[in-house]
Amino acid sequence: MRLKGKVAIVTGGGRGLGKGIAMKLAEEGARVVVADMAPADEAVAEMREKGGTAVSFQVNVSKQEEVKAMVQFAIDTYGTFDIMVNNAGINRDGMLHKMSKENWDTVIAVDLTGTFYGTQEAVNYMRSKNYGRIINISSGSWLGNIGQANYAAAKAGVIGLTKTAARENARKGITCNAICPGFIETDMTLKLKDVNDGAAWDSMMQRIPMGYAGKPEDVGNMVAFLASDDASYVTSEVLNVGGGMIV
Ligand code: NAD
Repeated sequence: MRLKGKVAIVTGGGRGLGKGIAMKLAEEGARVVVADMAPADEAVAEMREKGGTAVSFQVNVSKQEEVKAMVQFAIDTYGTFDIMVNNAGINRDGMLHKMSKENWDTVIAVDLTGTFYGTQEAVNYMRSKNYGRIINISSGSWLGNIGQANYAAAKAGVIGLTKTAARENARKGITCNAICPGFIETDMTLKLKDVNDGAAWDSMMQRIPMGYAGKPEDVGNMVAFLASDDASYVTSEVLNVGGGMIV
């Protein structure tokens, strides 16, 4: 129970990685706002069944006013707010020479601007209490990945944003770190099983030194560590959770 007494917001917490993260934070004793564009009631019910404390909140992270309302909701509901996990993200893959401006803008709006809104809103509150933990979910794709110019640019931007927020707020008791998941089994990646009768999935497994896809709880474990006092001297870092895939 390393997070007893703490309040966390996890965006995109209704399914996939975000759900794994939210479940782990609740298991460690945090009270969690599961914030998602889609209704997150099922995830919340599952967390409560396991003894956790959680509520859902509907948000589109690409809308600044909604992100402000989300942070205010956490403070109104639980009296404080300590841990911000900017996890919500989407992809619209395609080769750069064919990428539409719309697919570029959509991914930047959610993955990068949404993380900016969440980080800024968190910092604004956390500075007033000289404590906070911000964890931004980037991706191993930030290093460049065929078919993901929009996503790679957004995720690289998240790292620059994270490192800047970390340095600007280090003396205010706020840490800010990024996690780069490699290939984790969620709706976002399971689509690959339908490509070329599963051949695309199999070839991805060959690229992972451990030979298998990660699980949302693998990322949840890293988030819980960064949110805990065990990581109080860790800031401005980029931590890979990729079974050896990200080099
Ligand atoms: P997912 O598609 O399974 O889940 C994403 C969740 O975010 C959904 O619940 C969705 O409703 C929510 N969401 C989407 N747009 C939103 C918005 N505008 N506002 C609020 N919520 C929104 O994806 P996932 O695989 O769980 O990915 C979660 C994060 O992890 C993303 O940022 C993704 O880029 C990153 N990531 C995933 C992998 C992977 O292998 N799955 C690898 C690297 C990084």
